[in-house]
Amino acid sequence: MERKLERLIPKPRSRFIQVICNECGNRQIVFDSAKIEVKCNVCGAVLCKPSGGKAILLAKRERVLE
Ligand SMILES: [Zn+2]
Repeated sequence: MERKLERLIPKPRSRFIQVICNECGNRQIVFDSAKIEVKCNVCGAVLCKPSGGKAILLAKRERVLE
């Protein structure tokens, strides 16, 4: 029997990414395809910008959350 369990969960088109603010080192989770500018909760630096499809990350990407 094949492993079909994984297919039951629809593949998300977007992901959440944990980033580290370049300014203050704050860790924050941003949406891969954010439609609005996401700012650091601590210092207000822009962490990612919308760009049609995928957001442009302006902070250091630490890891992708599955
Ligand atoms: Zn910050």
